[in-house]
Amino acid sequence: MAEVRGNYIAGQWRPAASGRTFENMSPADGADCLGRFADSGPDDVDVAVAAAKAAFPAWKRLPAPKRGEILFRTAEILVRRKEEFACAMTREMGKVLAETRGDVQEAIDMTYYMAGEGRRQFGQTTPSELRDKFQMSVRMPVGVAGLVTPWNFPMAIPSWKMMPALVLGNTVVLKPAPDTPLSAVNLVLALEEAGLPPGVVNLVTGGGEPGAALVEHPDVGVVSFTGSTVTGRKVSEAAARLFKHCHLEMGGKNVIMVMDDADIDLAVDGALWGGFGTSGQRCTAASRVVLHRGIYDSFTRRFVERASALRVGNGLDPATEMGPVVSEAQLRRIERYVEIGQAEGAKLLCGGRRLSTGDHGRGFFFEPTVFGAVGPSLRIAREEIFGPVVVLIPVASLDEAIAVGNSVEYGLSASIYTRDIGNAFRAMQEMYTGIFYVNAPTIGAETHLPFGGTKATGNGHREACVQALDVFSEWKSVYIDFSGGLQRAQID
Ligand code: NAD
Repeated sequence: MAEVRGNYIAGQWRPAASGRTFENMSPADGADCLGRFADSGPDDVDVAVAAAKAAFPAWKRLPAPKRGEILFRTAEILVRRKEEFACAMTREMGKVLAETRGDVQEAIDMTYYMAGEGRRQFGQTTPSELRDKFQMSVRMPVGVAGLVTPWNFPMAIPSWKMMPALVLGNTVVLKPAPDTPLSAVNLVLALEEAGLPPGVVNLVTGGGEPGAALVEHPDVGVVSFTGSTVTGRKVSEAAARLFKHCHLEMGGKNVIMVMDDADIDLAVDGALWGGFGTSGQRCTAASRVVLHRGIYDSFTRRFVERASALRVGNGLDPATEMGPVVSEAQLRRIERYVEIGQAEGAKLLCGGRRLSTGDHGRGFFFEPTVFGAVGPSLRIAREEIFGPVVVLIPVASLDEAIAVGNSVEYGLSASIYTRDIGNAFRAMQEMYTGIFYVNAPTIGAETHLPFGGTKATGNGHREACVQALDVFSEWKSVYIDFSGGLQRAQID
């Protein structure tokens, strides 16, 4: 019998009001069931938001360093349970163990970082233009934070949102992706064990319906969403009607640019990791590689050889280099894009097919796929595929590489491989992306720099670092006049 996990509301695990559940199956093995989870609806969201609202006044009044201490203890628990949570995550969504360990590590890093913010949350003090007057700015929490997250970083992303929200004194309702409820449950278990008071964090599992109900709930003051641009637009519109704080992290079509002076082996290593890590299902995946014509052939030969040799299998097997994709629907989407690419005249250099024999037949496996001689206007060069598909785009110069790099609707991450520092800085300056790398792939963000993207990737906010605090707080400017008389700013 599969274990049944309920929602976590007001410190209790309870079933969905409807009693409905859904199955959580491993994408690597259709016989591996990770349990049944609450299939929630708007009623469950109402109860969770009410619990978060009730817990808000006391949590807000708890001194921030004390809130930080609970986060610190949570981080210690995540460290202790890292291997267990990473194994569960590999079973749940497929990426290889090294990467799920990294996912839990990101949650650990973010939790320690935000624990420290319990003793910082710096505001400003400025001199007044008047005598005997003091002024400063302080942060205040917004209230209930509604968090909606995707499946590809199922513990890291909830932690990126939850930890800054909590340390500031907000309470939280988290609605994780239906493909990865267990990793969200595990994060909540760590918070529970660390002594988080009931109602401060609430978890409601299920699909888009509870997600939409959370975003639209009038008692949710701030919404933070990570997922596709299509869903993000809906979230943005719903939040705008109610004037909510709304933070969006959405799709990407990231680019690695390789110049003719680059270290080609280094660039091949980077493009493989960037393109096929997490089976290409990272928002920062290097799905486009723009190659200077001078090195196009040598790079392509080595890259295709290495991509074709990647060992695809169950992520629990230490020999596996690339796991499955997350679902049958995702697999079909990738197949469709391969057909589109071929119909558009792009050259399929390797891969392109579902793997369905032997152990591969038990899950959703796809061959590492490379298209060559791709024109930048083709759909496969512009749209987010979110699978192990990399397109190689030849260009004649750095200027053309930058123009191609910037030509898509997204603006998350870009990178350049070059030995010329001038090229590196020019590209850094000209790429309109939220993240930029030199001689490294488009992935590898750390939690103490801002994370996010421009254009259709984001809406001007940033996750991680101190910038994350801006999403979950309001500023209050405070003026204290101790002159004993009426002083009029701008007049006296
Ligand atoms: P998705 O948009 O399908 O779902 C994201 C979340 O939104 C899920 O929890 C889903 O249940 C919920 N949801 C669905 N409909 C909703 C609605 N109408 N209102 C509110 N919530 C709703 O995305 P996904 O398939 O889970 O994730 C993949 C996408 O996420 C990719 O586009 C990827 O680029 C993006 N992503 C972006 C970042 C980033 O930081 N920019 C990070 C990871 C993933």
